[in-house]
Amino acid sequence: MAEDPRTTELRARTAATFPLVREQLEALVRIPSVSNPSFDQAHVRTSAEHVAQLLREAGLDEVHVLDAPAPDGGRGAPAVVARRPGPAGAPHVLLYAHHDVQPPGDRGEWDTEPFEPTERDGRLYGRGAADDKAGIVAHLGALRVLGAELGVGVSVFVEGEEEIGSPSFAAFLAEHRELLAADVIVVADSVNWKVGVPALTTSLRGMADLEVEVAVTEHAIHSGMFGGPVLDANVLLARLVSTLHDDDGDVAVEGLERAPDPEVDQDEAELRAEAAVLAGVRLAGTGPLTARLWSRPAISVIGIDATRVDEASNTIAPRARAKLSLRVAPGQDPLEARAALRRHLEQHAPFGARVTVTERDAGKGFAAPLDSPAMQAAREAFAASWGTAPVDTGLGGSIPFIADLLESFPAAQILVTGVEDPDSRAHGANESVHLGELEKVVLAEALLLDRLAR
Ligand SMILES: [Zn+2]
Repeated sequence: MAEDPRTTELRARTAATFPLVREQLEALVRIPSVSNPSFDQAHVRTSAEHVAQLLREAGLDEVHVLDAPAPDGGRGAPAVVARRPGPAGAPHVLLYAHHDVQPPGDRGEWDTEPFEPTERDGRLYGRGAADDKAGIVAHLGALRVLGAELGVGVSVFVEGEEEIGSPSFAAFLAEHRELLAADVIVVADSVNWKVGVPALTTSLRGMADLEVEVAVTEHAIHSGMFGGPVLDANVLLARLVSTLHDDDGDVAVEGLERAPDPEVDQDEAELRAEAAVLAGVRLAGTGPLTARLWSRPAISVIGIDATRVDEASNTIAPRARAKLSLRVAPGQDPLEARAALRRHLEQHAPFGARVTVTERDAGKGFAAPLDSPAMQAAREAFAASWGTAPVDTGLGGSIPFIADLLESFPAAQILVTGVEDPDSRAHGANESVHLGELEKVVLAEALLLDRLAR
């Protein structure tokens, strides 16, 4: 099928502007904007100022570097916000990315300098080259491609603390609501399905943590004198934890929901390699791997307080404690899911042991409506840019700021788009972006903004 003339025109303009996109990306990668507080935060400030300058050069005149109060009593990392109103009646679109990065990690694991962008085999290597400085330059590139033809209002929001969990994000939204309010939000910080096949991330699991303590005696007692009729708290905690999964390894907690299975599945060998699973270890659960990773609940024990082996004596432990991390199916309220897990633990107290549950953090997941007008426009734009339709994917982890965005702008349509591909190694050594894919990302976003204007 012949390409429609508008796509051809924007494709040519994207190709013409791409050398600049790449130059901007390289300059950003050279700024080591690690938001982890044990690194020099002056670089995060420098990168915010640099992004502000790029936004001004892109023709956005209302550009601010702002921060908001953080929960620790200080100020959050600097974010950059730029706004340009659209024609009367046109929708307003918020373009999101983040300018902070993960620490580089062990230099010895990198083949090239982490903060010196280096091209190899069509990929640009460097910390942040994909996550998420590629997102920043994709937004800038799309705006440049459309230029004066941009038919929507836009706000660009580039935050500076995503990699530490966006602690001041909610406060920032509350303080600068009028700058950020939008009908459609494009979050360019996710992963495409593979090189050559785009994806829309349409679901994220939520999360909820709790601590469970099992107590059996008032104090420690001799294991020789009392062992037998009195089971120790470590054994009882192990028995309690073992009730969380059935023999197949599926979660066996009543009241935890599942979302429908995804349309794509992942290769088992690939997953085993990515997760570094030891040879001979069987994977847990039934059904498609993507369902187990994205659309069903998961429970992990992320910490245990028990007697240390070095300090062990012939004693029956009176109490033991574990921290559980529950991943919640997209669409289920995490507070409701956490309550279901609490009920299960209380009802399965082994041998009548005293079980005490303390609820901890919870965060909402995300389940995008699959047929909203913005989603439709994005599907068309992605299909036109790549020449192949996007697949709907999920993420097993949560993105904390998405929950905050949903909370602040419940009517907005959120599109989570990819700049990475499965080989990007975000957060790892040798992070990279595929330059050919990045060019398609820029074109897709220009086509999307063009469609949203109609
Ligand atoms: Zn990111």
